[in-house]
Amino acid sequence: MKHRARRLAITLHDLRDAADSLPDAIVLLDETWRVRWFNRAAETLLGLRRGKDRGVLLSERLQGTELAAWLRSGARLPLHDVPAPGRAEGHLDVSVQPFGRRQRMLQARDISPLTRLEQIRRDFVANVSHELRTPLTVIHGYLELLDPEDVPMLAPVLGEMRAQSKRMGQIVEDLLTLSRLETQEHVVDERVPMAALLATLRKEAEALSQGRHQVTLEVDTNCDLLGSPRDLHSALSNLVSNAVRYTPNGGSITIRWRRTGDGATYSVSDTGYGIPASHLARLTERFYRVSSSRSRETGGTGLGLSIVKHVLNLHQARLGVESTPGRGSTFSCHFGPERLLDPETP
Ligand code: ADP
Repeated sequence: MKHRARRLAITLHDLRDAADSLPDAIVLLDETWRVRWFNRAAETLLGLRRGKDRGVLLSERLQGTELAAWLRSGARLPLHDVPAPGRAEGHLDVSVQPFGRRQRMLQARDISPLTRLEQIRRDFVANVSHELRTPLTVIHGYLELLDPEDVPMLAPVLGEMRAQSKRMGQIVEDLLTLSRLETQEHVVDERVPMAALLATLRKEAEALSQGRHQVTLEVDTNCDLLGSPRDLHSALSNLVSNAVRYTPNGGSITIRWRRTGDGATYSVSDTGYGIPASHLARLTERFYRVSSSRSRETGGTGLGLSIVKHVLNLHQARLGVESTPGRGSTFSCHFGPERLLDPETP
């Protein structure tokens, strides 16, 4: 008996040592969310104190932090990239797993090195884009000054140089837009009058199509949106421009704004080339293209749908894509009720 107790004590000791050597913070919580035990990393990452914090309610101990609010709301879904209460400038991914009899284990992983790298990447892209902007504007300006009629032999070359410098300029502008959207946590909310915006989108589609497609607008609600007028225009018009660019001549494009049971949906349907299912999951990645040649021929930068995704995220909206190769695609943006406004009474 004594021998077994000793073996048990050694095993327990080893288990504690092992848990203390883990880089992740582990906190065992009872059924009322009180702290039963925690490892060493929980001291450094969460700021818990050995000998003091046993038995305390974890949400109270972490009062005033994002983590506390998440714990109070039931901690059902994992939490990504929250400030570490125990370490200045630290960032954590946190989750809670149930175990045993109504107990829970909270696990917090230090993701600070990753967030630092991510920050370096973001700064690099923003700086490069910014540095390229001025020289490109100068080159573009000089190219515009040159008259192809002066040197007819070089006219095709000049045309190509102008088109390419315009494309580079567009890529730089799109990258700068993406950098801005990435660093933004929320938008300044304003009323976005949808009747006017939809009319503009339709006009833009017609201008881009130049009579090659039939453009229809279907509206069954007069509600407006709450958000950033500039960013929403950019996202919604991106979908219109894609529909025109990826639909052969003679096809049709339908822009819709409809009320649904849980909000409202803006969608653009086309009868174009469509997208094979295997590509759908990756469409919003930067520079991801189903067909590079088709994208380039029509002036695409490969950044449009990334911009759409970021703008929608900032408005807590969802992007949906349905597509059948050879038949066409529908891209939809679903906005929740908190983003809808009744129209202004004149
Ligand atoms: P791009 O500037 O290349 O159009 P996007 O990010 O807007 O970049 O779109 C990514 C890719 O998704 C496009 O290159 C194209 O292959 C595909 N795509 C987007 N919209 C459509 C559409 N309406 N029909 C068919 N393919 C589309």
